[in-house]
Amino acid sequence: MNKPRPEHSPMAQFPVADDCLQIGGIPLTRLAQRIGRTPFYAYDRRSISHKVELLRRHLPADIHLHYAMKANPMPAVVQHLVTQVDGLDVASAGEMQVALDAGMSPEKISIAGPGKTPAELSMALAAGIVINMESENEMETIARLAHQLGVRARVAVRVNPDFELKSSGMKMAGGPKQFGVDAERVPEMLARLKVLKLDFQGFHIFSGSQNLSVEAIQEAQTKTIELAYTLAEAAPAPVKLLNLGGGFGIPYFPGEKPLDLAPICANLKDLLPKARKRLPEAEFALELGRYLVGEAGIYVCRVLDRKISRGHVFLITDGGLHHHLAASGNFGQVIRKNYPVLVGNKVVGRARETVSVVGPLCTPLDLLADKMEMAKADIGDLIVVMQSGAYGLTASPTAFLSHPRPAEVLI
Ligand SMILES: *Cc1c(COP(=O)(O)O)cnc(C)c1O
Repeated sequence: MNKPRPEHSPMAQFPVADDCLQIGGIPLTRLAQRIGRTPFYAYDRRSISHKVELLRRHLPADIHLHYAMKANPMPAVVQHLVTQVDGLDVASAGEMQVALDAGMSPEKISIAGPGKTPAELSMALAAGIVINMESENEMETIARLAHQLGVRARVAVRVNPDFELKSSGMKMAGGPKQFGVDAERVPEMLARLKVLKLDFQGFHIFSGSQNLSVEAIQEAQTKTIELAYTLAEAAPAPVKLLNLGGGFGIPYFPGEKPLDLAPICANLKDLLPKARKRLPEAEFALELGRYLVGEAGIYVCRVLDRKISRGHVFLITDGGLHHHLAASGNFGQVIRKNYPVLVGNKVVGRARETVSVVGPLCTPLDLLADKMEMAKADIGDLIVVMQSGAYGLTASPTAFLSHPRPAEVLI
């Protein structure tokens, strides 16, 4: 017997009426007219809020929820989330300015990332946000700059743990890494931190992105909290903040299923009583990027040409990898797989066919869908790439081939 071909997980965040996808209650064809051009990214604010509500429903009430802005730093998106989350995590001074403009109070903003420049550190110090320190050298620089500015630096230590997040799409901890300070070196660093009189806030332990394994996430959270107990013994002050990282994944590819939040949150609930006892002053936070915004966004481009090459149908569009690197398979994927792609104005269609959707760039890498079944499309139809709300536009090489940037809207 043949094994059934794995399929994309059903995506119900956007309803379909008259065979046309609806975004925020607007038919896609109308939305394209409203925006006045293609390609574009559209994000649905209700879908983002729904993810926050879903998390709040499952999470223990005293687990704080932060938004990791690099997943989608569009100012309107950040503005929308500011009143719904407990903090923003930024990865550059540019993101910090957007976070402050959106009205998040500085004490609820933290900055992480290796290679922060002295200028960026000074801006962060002047703003009064928490700096997640990625190295001993960075700590020395922060102490010097804080002295010059006459401010007390609020700092946390980003730890590179001695374990890694299993089954993670992108590993960011365990083994030798450019992120954080190796766990075994942290006690010595904390002794120096005390001498430098920095205002110690706590620890930041982020082990990886795009994880769809409940067991792996549970294990990482359990080990993260255990590691914080050990490190806290060497800390010059009580831990006020334990950032447990993010990494909750969403289904992109055939065969992937949505993450089951209930057992992950139940595990956190089990860990909390002891954690509150061992770290009585600590606030526990998850910092999620992709999980909050990834499913709320689509990327839309228009079919410019339809061409048959040796029996194979190519839909040539005005969008491609320069706008959406991840959908082309070139942002961290080992084996290229198709994102969920469909014809937005002919979701089911009268006829179906197997096609490849490509962009206008002069490289065979510019592929949005490879031999995928979808409604039979004509020139002028709208191709939609689902699951495009995170690591889309700002994670793409928009300057490549000098085409215009896509539009971006929040509906
Ligand atoms: C990117 C990043 C995140 C968010 O990761 P997601 O997989 O999008 O949830 C969280 N924390 C840090 C430090 C990051 O660099």
